[in-house]
Amino acid sequence: MTEYSTVSYREIPLFKDVTEAQWNDWHWQMRNAIADIGTLGEVLDIDEKEHEDLEKTLAKFKMAITPYYAALMDKSYKLCSVRLQAIPRVEELSNDVSDMADPLHEDVDSSIPGLTHRYPDRVLLLVTDICSMNCRHCTRRRIVGQEDSHLSKENIQRAVEYVREHREIRDVLLSGGDPFTLSDGSLETIVAAFREIPHVEIIRIGTRTPVVMPMRVTDDLVNMLKKYHPIYVNTHFNHYSEVTQEAKEACEKMADAGIPVGNQSVLLRDVNDCPRIMKKLVHELLKIRVKPYYIYQCDLSKGISHFRVSVAKGIEIIESLRGHTTGMAVPTYVVDAPGGGGKIPLMPNYLLSHSDKRYVLRNYEGVITTYTQPSNIFSECWCELCKNDEYGPLDGVAKLLNGEKLSLEPTDLARLQRNGLNPQE
Ligand SMILES: *Cc1c(COP(=O)(O)O)cnc(C)c1O
Ligand code: SF4
Repeated sequence: MTEYSTVSYREIPLFKDVTEAQWNDWHWQMRNAIADIGTLGEVLDIDEKEHEDLEKTLAKFKMAITPYYAALMDKSYKLCSVRLQAIPRVEELSNDVSDMADPLHEDVDSSIPGLTHRYPDRVLLLVTDICSMNCRHCTRRRIVGQEDSHLSKENIQRAVEYVREHREIRDVLLSGGDPFTLSDGSLETIVAAFREIPHVEIIRIGTRTPVVMPMRVTDDLVNMLKKYHPIYVNTHFNHYSEVTQEAKEACEKMADAGIPVGNQSVLLRDVNDCPRIMKKLVHELLKIRVKPYYIYQCDLSKGISHFRVSVAKGIEIIESLRGHTTGMAVPTYVVDAPGGGGKIPLMPNYLLSHSDKRYVLRNYEGVITTYTQPSNIFSECWCELCKNDEYGPLDGVAKLLNGEKLSLEPTDLARLQRNGLNPQE
């Protein structure tokens, strides 16, 4: 049995008189989020250079660190993986040539405020701009920590109407900001409204509170959520040091309420760009009943280029996991395509070559093996769904494979313009 450490805050002078009831009250945690250099200086050592950098950075960006997460930071080690995610650095003020305000076109692809309908059967709804903590690597920093408001009732109503009118939407993903910064009542209103729509099969919620403010996951919250099953939660652990006793209790509370919990990490320089850190992280997650779901390549959002590492590092991490450890522990490494193309999975190559008779494959150990094709390589489907053309339509490359389309062509090909052809017709 692993011993999980509880965050010890009483040793920190700033928190020495905080009662247990206050500490465990998420409203207290949010009200007392550390937002200025003076208070931060009472929690950890800041040298002169850091002080100067902080002043410059805070002139442009907000800081908010829950006391809980602050107590998890190393007091003097600047490269502490928790510190790096929470404390502004002057690098945030510089942009890389590739940086964009909204790389994933979440605003562009949104006809209704907060709603992004990118994939055929599911939508993303940003229900709030507010987070309990402002992560320095936040991909939505164009909104989070700027306006600080929840999505208005009218806009939620519009999103609900949109989903009601689009019968193809079977999955609603609530994110933000952090939906768990809403009161139980406000969150229930939203969840209940979507649950009433017959074609909405699952509701997913993205929240970082189990990591940065685990006391938010109360009995009341999970008892409310479980009335609207199937509910799924995805959270955001980036480093195994974030897996504390408190975080464990929060995740287990959800799991006990029948809410499957997944994890989405972001690959971050000096935080988790190491196969060993990632391996230990995914093991720690499974122990607290959290299933590693995605590792994201760091997006091209403005002011976070110092966090980015090469895509090759992500592939190396998957190489070090697949086969070497429990399959359930292996997340999918994805690049969220700039311009709104969605998540693209990347992994090492396991297919080395093939003929019409054999596939040459290699395993995680480097063993090269073959799979011999069946003598009849063609399959034909007789299922009810295909016969009735029921569970479609397929789009994109899937349409090329099933022969519905011969090719996919960009609409702005010079060749098409030369010949006066409009590919849309
Ligand atoms: C990530 C994302 C989803 C959900 O993607 P899954 O792969 O189904 O988890 C849905 N909509 C948008 C806009 C997203 O960015
Ligand atoms: S919890 Fe998520 S949305 Fe909120 S600041 Fe962190 S990364 Fe951004």
